[in-house]
Amino acid sequence: KPITIITIGMAGAGKSTFVQRITSYLHSKDSPPYVLNLDPAVAFMPFEANIDIRDTVNYKEVMKQYNLGPNGGILTALNLFTTKFDQVLSLVEKRSDTVDYVILDTPGQIEIFTWSASGAIITDAIASSFPTVIAYIIDTPRTSAPATFMSNMLYACSILYKTKLPFILVFNKTDVQPHDFALEWMHDFEAFQEALATHGGTRDAEGEPTYMNSLMNSMSLVLDEFYKHLKAVGVSSMTGDGMKEFFDAVGASREEYETQYVPEIERAR
Ligand code: GDP
Repeated sequence: KPITIITIGMAGAGKSTFVQRITSYLHSKDSPPYVLNLDPAVAFMPFEANIDIRDTVNYKEVMKQYNLGPNGGILTALNLFTTKFDQVLSLVEKRSDTVDYVILDTPGQIEIFTWSASGAIITDAIASSFPTVIAYIIDTPRTSAPATFMSNMLYACSILYKTKLPFILVFNKTDVQPHDFALEWMHDFEAFQEALATHGGTRDAEGEPTYMNSLMNSMSLVLDEFYKHLKAVGVSSMTGDGMKEFFDAVGASREEYETQYVPEIERAR
């Protein structure tokens, strides 16, 4: 059975470039993936998707017809597409003997997928048919301030707890900035607290810890638990660095899916 990689990321993190990179990497390994594009608003796609939401719904037409703004148009387009998702699944099933990887590209506005009924329905439908992993793409250079890092991790954490699927943090753009600071903060709680202290004082004028800092300190305790449940890799979608590490993590996620996710959904039934 193929494994499905659901790619998620904040706009600008490099999700499209990443999907393009892993697609061409798999082609070079003689294992062409089956690609599903769920972003109705993507203007330019350098790789060919096997199933493309844009072939089914035109979000600009949806905007006009229902009198919606761009986000409403994209969400409604995704909702319309979701009503046909059983057909999409059966197309994927048909290819499941010949394909090792299914790649799912999600809308550029992250919350349209992560916090919508359609996103949940699609995720659950895929994950109950195939081993599935979430690849959360992070803009490494833009997450090097401790407060930004923390909010990014909290967002990832909320997606992990919502989907319960195996999860890979993909630190992208390592050609601009290596991701070792992120690994250090994840593994060494004190290093992170120290970074917090040096970035914008830990004390206010009266010598008390600022609200922001005590909030971040307690949140980082929550995150410490979260980090134990995920894998982190550094990649450059630009140069292709880190592809092997990424696919090693995908391989390990397949096992995690079988041993943790499947028993969990069976218990829930
Ligand atoms: P998306 O909005 O998440 O789909 O992001 P895009 O794939 O459109 O990328 C956003 C910007 O980041 C573009 O200018 C890309 O060229 C750039 N980018 C993406 N990946 C990398 C990378 O690994 N290294 C560098 N230096 N730039 C990247």
